[in-house]
Amino acid sequence: PTAIQIRDVVKRYAGDKGQEGKLALKGVSFDVPQGGIFGLLGPNGAGKSTLINILAGLVTKTSGTASIWGFDIDEQRRNAKRAIGIVPQEIVFDPFFTPYEVLENQAGFYGIAKSLRRSEELLRAVHLADKRDAYARTLSGGMKRRLLIAKAMVHSPPILVLDEPTAGVDVELRRLLWELVTQLNDDGVTVVLTTHYLEEAEQLCDRVAIINHGELIANKPTREMVDMA
Ligand code: ADP
Ligand code: ADP
Repeated sequence: PTAIQIRDVVKRYAGDKGQEGKLALKGVSFDVPQGGIFGLLGPNGAGKSTLINILAGLVTKTSGTASIWGFDIDEQRRNAKRAIGIVPQEIVFDPFFTPYEVLENQAGFYGIAKSLRRSEELLRAVHLADKRDAYARTLSGGMKRRLLIAKAMVHSPPILVLDEPTAGVDVELRRLLWELVTQLNDDGVTVVLTTHYLEEAEQLCDRVAIINHGELIANKPTREMVDMA
């Protein structure tokens, strides 16, 4: 199947007290093909997070359709959800859980049998094996971001979506996160990420869609995008 299919998606947020709400997406359509690293590039306020949150089931679209791995996000919610792992922008952990517990709890949410869990392997993959039993509150920002990626991969989804994975991080951590994303992609995971850094899209993505004011204004292989600029 196509990894992600978005068709004519409109989102109007509810307005305050009779005021008309913000039109965050004005009828967006695109496909994310399987296997690559797809970048959704756009300035702050363009509608990137809104789109990701719709896919994550956190925001309800006003109209249009979306499917993940061939599963309609409304009609086949459970299957759609299992096909995707979401790395949110904000870091949200219970500070008194350890990385190992965070992953085990997540596996529990998904009903994954103990014998089929891969918490240790995931911790190794994100270079956190030595922090297995540290309290999450003692981890650095970079370690927490890596733990979020491992958490999103607990149910082995074929698609990983990252919302602004490197916003506000230093150069060194950015490189490390790029390496992790590339490694996952090499292992067969289709990656979608949002970014407002052109350089990130150029370096990491093989296809880039540009979104501005809730409209898709380009969608091309990265090399053609770079020629344009
Ligand atoms: P991006 O992720 O590209 O920065 P967002 O999707 O966060 O953009 O925001 C798109 C537009 O929708 C912005 O104008 C933003 O202010 C508005 N918006 C986002 N979330 C909400 C919300 N919960 N309620 C009302 N307006 C929102
Ligand atoms: P359910 O719909 O089965 O009750 P929830 O939506 O409550 O599941 O999610 C359970 C846990 O899984 C929460 O920690 C939530 O943040 C997380 N989660 C849900 N969907 C995803 C996903 N696609 N990728 C990563 N984590 C997810």
